Amino acid sequence: MVKETKYYETLGCPPDATEAQLKTAYRKGALKWHPDKNAHSEEAADKFKELSHAYEVLSDPQKRQLYDQYGEEGLESGGAGGGMAAEDLFSQFFGGGGGFGGMFGGGMREQGPKKARTIHHVHKVSLEDIYKGKVSKLALQKSVICSKCEGRGGKEGAVKTCTGCNGAGMKTMMRQMGPMIQRFQTVCPDCNGEGEIIRDKDRCKQCHGKKTIVERKVLHVHVDKGVQSGTKIDFRGEGDQLPGVEPGDVQFEIEQKPHSRFQRKGDDLFYHAEIDLLTALAGGAIYIEHLDDRWLTVEIVPGEVIAPGEIKVIRGQGMPSYRHHDFGNLYVQFDVKFPEKLGGPEGEPMSEEQQKALESVLPARQPQHVPPPDAMTEDFSLEKVDESREASRAQRAAMGGDDDDDEMHGGGERVQCASQ
Ligand SMILES: [Zn+2]
Ligand SMILES: [Zn+2]
Repeated sequence: MVKETKYYETLGCPPDATEAQLKTAYRKGALKWHPDKNAHSEEAADKFKELSHAYEVLSDPQKRQLYDQYGEEGLESGGAGGGMAAEDLFSQFFGGGGGFGGMFGGGMREQGPKKARTIHHVHKVSLEDIYKGKVSKLALQKSVICSKCEGRGGKEGAVKTCTGCNGAGMKTMMRQMGPMIQRFQTVCPDCNGEGEIIRDKDRCKQCHGKKTIVERKVLHVHVDKGVQSGTKIDFRGEGDQLPGVEPGDVQFEIEQKPHSRFQRKGDDLFYHAEIDLLTALAGGAIYIEHLDDRWLTVEIVPGEVIAPGEIKVIRGQGMPSYRHHDFGNLYVQFDVKFPEKLGGPEGEPMSEEQQKALESVLPARQPQHVPPPDAMTEDFSLEKVDESREASRAQRAAMGGDDDDDEMHGGGERVQCASQ
């Protein structure tokens, strides 16, 4: 005598129905009330959920026993913890969902068909290759369905569903804890979680019962001209194959390697050019080795004057623009190298003639901030900074006065004083 009959009524079966009868009833009902077939019908959605829940309980001999004995209450106090989602059960029942998606035209909603993992790979590319574009051949190791056993793992008919767990791989165990029954899930010990049992002699010789083998596959990755770092390129279904699930994808992410001459920002390139003061003032040429083996000759017009740090642009010599079928710009920042000293070729001081020549082309001296006529003035001259003396002293002071070996200050004496 069963305590409640609600679940049996939901399925439309008598309480003494066999497993096969329950299965048939669920199958009929699930197809009728599946949400993909009954768009926007709340009634259908509820029916589908109830049906799935009822079948989930009654198809599990242990749960069914609990239900028959204690009713719904018995299941709850057993710590059922939510049970399976209706869609999960549905896709499990109808063989993994993958092949069934097409039946209702829309596939499984939200959940989606079960799919093998995506293989991610970062593909590092030089700036030259991005400028010119290329096709990279990349090899990967992936699992493919064993061709010998067609993914069964053994001879046809030799692979049996594990009776210990009904193929689920997991088993629900029960433990009596005083008045409570505690339920817990554990890996099925009969099949080690495989859900299937193959006798050793029937195992596939090629995959040793694993159903898949590892294969090397070469993919051609198109590195389009001007592609941005971080762009992802997908190969749908080229990833791992596993029995009963949709093959996974392969995704490559383009990563641009740093370049020794150019920095890239979007479609623009940035370049540092060092020029001497004479070129900056009186003109000349600089040469830039581009990314496609061309050399750009860039004229600096005499008298135009390039200031240190100034940025100029060469239009259209940046990266190919992926979207605009155009090119970005090349920005050139100038470092101007000043001479150590001006004067004669042998290091003589600057002659009056040379001074006059400079004064004739450079703008006149700016008026200085001069002292008032009655101010006291003293004369000074500039000296070169002696790197080994002043500079290192200044540096040490800045670093916090590590003057252990500073002989100039008689550091040794101070240390002696301090220890007396
Ligand atoms: Zn095989
Ligand atoms: Zn098992």
